[in-house]
Amino acid sequence: MDNQKKSKDGKITLHKITKILIAEGLILSVLLISLAMKRLSEYKEDPLDHTKPVVNTGDNKNNTISPTSDPILELKKEQEAKQQEVLKEAKLLAAGYDYDKAINLLKSEEGYENIESFMNAITTFEEDKKACVPFGAYKSSTEVSHLFFHSLIYDTSKAFDGEYDSNGYNYYMVTVKEFKEMLNQLYENDYVLVSIHDLVTKVTNEDGTTAYQDGDVLLPPNKKPFVLSQDDVNYYDYMEGDGFASRMVIDENGKPSTLMINDDGTTSIGDYDIVPIVERFIEEHPDFSYRGARGVIALTGYEGALGYRTDPASKDSKTYDQDRETVKQVANVLKQYGWEFACHSNGHRDMAACTEEFLKKDTNNWLKYVGSLVGETDLYIFPYGIDIQSGAGVYKNAKFQYLDSVGFHYYFGVFKEPWIQVKDNYVRMSRRAIDGQAMLQYPDRLTDIFNLSTILDDTRPALK
Ligand SMILES: [Zn+2]
Repeated sequence: MDNQKKSKDGKITLHKITKILIAEGLILSVLLISLAMKRLSEYKEDPLDHTKPVVNTGDNKNNTISPTSDPILELKKEQEAKQQEVLKEAKLLAAGYDYDKAINLLKSEEGYENIESFMNAITTFEEDKKACVPFGAYKSSTEVSHLFFHSLIYDTSKAFDGEYDSNGYNYYMVTVKEFKEMLNQLYENDYVLVSIHDLVTKVTNEDGTTAYQDGDVLLPPNKKPFVLSQDDVNYYDYMEGDGFASRMVIDENGKPSTLMINDDGTTSIGDYDIVPIVERFIEEHPDFSYRGARGVIALTGYEGALGYRTDPASKDSKTYDQDRETVKQVANVLKQYGWEFACHSNGHRDMAACTEEFLKKDTNNWLKYVGSLVGETDLYIFPYGIDIQSGAGVYKNAKFQYLDSVGFHYYFGVFKEPWIQVKDNYVRMSRRAIDGQAMLQYPDRLTDIFNLSTILDDTRPALK
């Protein structure tokens, strides 16, 4: 404003200036007040009034009253976006049958009672939860299949090249193509991946003693829980150049993945083995995993772990210390994603045939060189599936006493059909081998789960 106004005679008098200033001040005040009133009335009419909790009616897009630079509207949008994120997360939890967690997440949002989309979701989750029954289509853990695999063959032309080890791969391995089709069939047939620790859990009785018992695996009545494990995730030297992944890594998105060494020496990270393939499948089908369950990764120790040579014999390797750190990091990421680790012995020997002293030494080596990197575990998967005690009697031998004393409480052998023994002090479960031998030699053993005609890889030769 120009405060240099002059009187007609060109002289400025103090009196006049004062008058003008007062008048101008008044005009300005009136203008500001009316402007403020206008804004206030607009604000009151604004359906996005942030003094009221937002009810997402889905028609906010049509409202163009306020300019986008309006800080209140911006705040509103931010709040809505956050709510959408929370809702998305809750839906993901509910898809994985964790209805309580999903509901609690929504209820933790302030004023959730007034958010229509939240209230609708809570109603749906509560109804879905009510429809769930323990073990879904099964009555108890006794009917649950535990399927196990070895490393997947990615390049069949290399694995089945007729070399001395081709027949072994044909017997004990499944190809990537076969595995992907198996996942499709499992999903289509209502199987749901469940953690062994959810299937059978340790409970504390009133008198303070503990016992293992069936968990409350609450699933829709048509769903069939199953446990998954993968043995020898060590990427042994003998597999090099035979079409397998070389090691487990963390990919650029922070997810567990596998690394492949190509013919020209370059490397690529991708879905070359079970872990990343299952991760991708669950991303697309969150209802395939019960409350974040993944599989069990069984490791030996004599050639390190996860494709890194962290065994004491590799101590002179230039990357020894770095490899140990990498295994720790990869193991942590795997655990964050729900994968669990199992001891598969250190030297992969027959634990029934060996002496008690050998078992002790072997177990201590595993704990020292592998357990120290991947963390504590109570899972022990017998090499070759050979149990430390034959028959279905109760464990009581010295080998069991020792394994128990160092923290192993879940033991896994191999059998053609589901079998489980749940005792106060341990759990013993058989696993079903899913491999070339089962598919080609004993296909009848798998017909309850798979339709092998659409699974078998064309490149797989006949068993010799
Ligand atoms: Zn093995």
